[in-house]
Amino acid sequence: MSQTAVKRLYLMQVGSMPDYQIPIVCYLVQTGDGKNILIDTGLPERLPEGESEFENGRDVIEQLASIGLSPNDIDTVISTHYDGDHAGRHAAFTKAHYVVQRVHHEDAASNPRYAVVRSQWDQPMERIRLVDGDTELLPGLELIETSGHVPGHQSVLVRLPNTGTVLLTIDAVAFRKSFVRDLAEDGSTPDTEAIRASTNKLLDLVEREKVGLVIFGHEQEQWESLKKLLEYYE
Ligand SMILES: [Zn+2]
Repeated sequence: MSQTAVKRLYLMQVGSMPDYQIPIVCYLVQTGDGKNILIDTGLPERLPEGESEFENGRDVIEQLASIGLSPNDIDTVISTHYDGDHAGRHAAFTKAHYVVQRVHHEDAASNPRYAVVRSQWDQPMERIRLVDGDTELLPGLELIETSGHVPGHQSVLVRLPNTGTVLLTIDAVAFRKSFVRDLAEDGSTPDTEAIRASTNKLLDLVEREKVGLVIFGHEQEQWESLKKLLEYYE
């Protein structure tokens, strides 16, 4: 195994939507040569007035501290998208570069949906790496463009030495029940077509790459069965 390859994957629950039993989560990838790559950062430290549907738990900074990492140890933050439950603590990682799909970053600039946590993701451009479509970030770590939930959403594929290939769908497929081919039109969103295309793309990827573990974005039942920090997948 190359030193630069991915060595560990940690899962963290940092909050929830208690009324819906929905976990808010983020992930940490570590490489053999000591790089720390965070995937999303969870909810803002202080939730906006009236935003009662979310609840903070042990936040990402506390959880990283429990494995001996400070925010300055994070080299890269993979930003799957700028919704408030995914980009809420970005600004805490002052040494990191942020990796986001160009389409998403450019849309966010004028889209009020992401205004709540703008102070978190709107960082100087020299600290943001814009990517276009599927991108291998480093050996064993690939970004998969999955627009639909929002334009330029990205999922993440992680190749681990023992566990094998793990797909983090993030919000492209938030719940296991939605991971079906040609997802039926329910008319609830104008982006149904893009959601269906991204779901099919991930189903194809699971077959092609022989993905052994698919982790859904907000699936409580599955989450309870997974290893969480301090434990990890390797
Ligand atoms: Zn989400």
